[in-house]
Amino acid sequence: MIAPSNDTALSRLMGPLVKPSVFDFWAGHLNSAWSWERPLARVVARRIEAQGTVTLDLKANRHCGAIQPGQHINVSTEVNGRRITRSYSPTRLSRSGKRLSITIKQVDGGKLSQHLCRQTQVGDALEIGPAFGDMTLPQGGAQQTDPRLFLAAGSGITPLMSLTRALDQVGLTQDLTLVYWARTRAELCFVAELRALAVRQPHFKVHFVLTQESQRLNGELAERLNAELLATLVPDLAQRRVHACGPAGFVDTARSLSLGHARSFLGEAFTPPPPLAATDAVGTVRINLALSGRTIEVPTGQALLPALEAQGLSLPSGCRMGICNTCACGKQTGVTQNLHTGDKEDIPTTALRLCISRACTDLTLDL
Ligand SMILES: Cc1cc2nc3c(=O)[nH]c(=O)nc-3n(C[C@H](O)[C@H](O)[C@H](O)COP(=O)(O)OP(=O)(O)OC[C@H]3O[C@@H](n4cnc5c(N)ncnc54)[C@H](O)[C@@H]3O)c2cc1C
Repeated sequence: MIAPSNDTALSRLMGPLVKPSVFDFWAGHLNSAWSWERPLARVVARRIEAQGTVTLDLKANRHCGAIQPGQHINVSTEVNGRRITRSYSPTRLSRSGKRLSITIKQVDGGKLSQHLCRQTQVGDALEIGPAFGDMTLPQGGAQQTDPRLFLAAGSGITPLMSLTRALDQVGLTQDLTLVYWARTRAELCFVAELRALAVRQPHFKVHFVLTQESQRLNGELAERLNAELLATLVPDLAQRRVHACGPAGFVDTARSLSLGHARSFLGEAFTPPPPLAATDAVGTVRINLALSGRTIEVPTGQALLPALEAQGLSLPSGCRMGICNTCACGKQTGVTQNLHTGDKEDIPTTALRLCISRACTDLTLDL
């Protein structure tokens, strides 16, 4: 995909005459994805992928950066007058990188997933941030042909679908087994495509596992992820590189079943792990906002991002679980605790991840 650049003939010609925001306003009336400098993607098609799940096909403008299969992007749009950002993993990427699809599962009461699934229409524009995430394929070397095992639960299928499609595009020369859990058959995505791939590609196997379906059809399974199931489905686990994606508990189980038993493990959770039970997490602390000159009080037991948002601050955020760094800001003074690891930090930093940090004492932040 073309790198962001303002140095076009148009920018040089128009630069002295019009502000980028004014250009965007008028250009957006002609084409929703035309922008002076913002990375926008226009919805060119939408379809129901499964019960409660919608796929949006997007055409990106020239300011959008490259994305590798298995990576994620932050998607932003306005919902009820507020800009909301969440992370999504493209399920399809064209070779040029200009076209991509995202597949969104509606979450009950969810702000952006509901909006994308119900309100977003063909012609609408979404802002998309730079790609992030390490669950990608090697770009060469011996690892490229190692057998793999993909474990997906719920919307965790999305980056693994992108990886499966990418491997298929280059001929799938290594063994690949995909085990895909959903609650019911109606919630499974991409079934016809995955079954057809398993018929066409001798190296590819797919197993669908349904945890809340009374009847099993077409070789479907019903167990939760466990060691016996893996031993039956992939007797050669020790040779395989495992990729897992889904809720935090699922990824944790996949990690513990793979480490020491498989060749390698890469996992990414779409939901945050349960917060640490900190014994000193009671009461409130004062946060001095150095740039805006305000002081506010927040509960010490809550992650800083939702705590500051609850006080009316509109802060940049993305994955909200410590992966994408969008919410990182400077901390001048005070003690914070990483809610994932439990580690406490009392030294200043330029990149405090507000979504996974709580304040243990009064803080001064660069906000
Ligand atoms: C790296 C990454 C990649 C992701 N890729 C995809 C993707 O390709 N497709 C996709 O559908 N989702 C994906 N997600 C999840 C997505 O970012 C949002 O969290 C999800 O769409 C819910 O957002 P929301 O604004 O609708 O819900 P919110 O308004 O943020 O939350 C509403 C309620 O739902 C709960 N909740 C939030 N997220 C989830 C979730 N994922 N599952 C269950 N409950 C949740 C919250 O705790 C809250 O109670 C990804 C998440 C990450 C971190």
